[in-house]
Amino acid sequence: MTASSSSPASTAKVTVSPEEFTFVKYDAAEIAGIVADLAERLGVAYRRIRIGGQRTLWGSCSPGGTLSFNWRLVLAPFAVLARSQRAGRGRLGRKWHSAQSGNLYLSLAFRPFIPPERLKPFTLWMGLALCSHVEKSLGLKLGLKWPNDLQTPDGRKVAGMLTEARLDSDSVRELVFGLGLNLTGQPKDFPAEIRATAGSLEAALGAPIDVNREAAAVIAALFHAWEQFEEGTWSRSFRKLWQSHDVLAGKSVRVGLRGDPVAGIVDGIDEEGSLILRTGGGRKTIVSSGEVTLRKP
Ligand code: ATP
Repeated sequence: MTASSSSPASTAKVTVSPEEFTFVKYDAAEIAGIVADLAERLGVAYRRIRIGGQRTLWGSCSPGGTLSFNWRLVLAPFAVLARSQRAGRGRLGRKWHSAQSGNLYLSLAFRPFIPPERLKPFTLWMGLALCSHVEKSLGLKLGLKWPNDLQTPDGRKVAGMLTEARLDSDSVRELVFGLGLNLTGQPKDFPAEIRATAGSLEAALGAPIDVNREAAAVIAALFHAWEQFEEGTWSRSFRKLWQSHDVLAGKSVRVGLRGDPVAGIVDGIDEEGSLILRTGGGRKTIVSSGEVTLRKP
């Protein structure tokens, strides 16, 4: 689980690269006027398109545009899709290597008004929805490495997910799901420090990917997953999908984040999406967040 409370609305910014980005508003009919106003301020030309059968607004922003959290609050749910980004980051502020083009750098913003405790399995659910989509559309079975990595069948990391939330005491006011997904590129194209571990959908498939088509399809799949999460219907398929895509099941691991690392055998996840570890002597340890390292057999 990577949700965290974020800084106040007025200070947080999504800064997009000097490259073009695309702004997709989901089911925008009732707030078309607000979006038109935003478009004018940003110098965005937009038009309606359909993604996943839903009415949406679409626009391309001029170079260097920014969207503030305030706008996100008014407009959510929507997606910001960057062709490139300068400050891609993962958990704990780790750098997400972002090539100039050919990949998916995506933020989906939601305004859920759900109790914070309902949010716990959210990142895992979105990851599973993405696995399911990629399997159906490209025939490639990705694995989910708890809590937030997606891997190709040969264990290369193709995506990182980061969920950030603004919480009130009783409610999640704003939720942003960030995804970096490597669509194209070969291992040699990655920087030296991740060359041995990073992969792309295209490299795993051994066939070219239509970046625009895949970007639209991923957004549609994730918005659909969000609807299921909000309605509560997600839980019907969660367990089965988890069992199908979990890459850590039965593995000997060490989990650390802060404090002493815990070693054990992975025994699935609990209802909230926390990792269950068998730590010896019949004991079970529940880990709600952390960094997992596989131990040599
Ligand atoms: P991990 O579990 O992979 O050690 P993490 O889950 O804690 O990392 P993330 O926030 O998911 O961290 O992603 C950041 C890490 O992913 C980086 O530290 C780097 O190792 C790796 N990475 C960065 N950019 C990419 C990329 N484009 N493709 C694959 N891996 C990347």
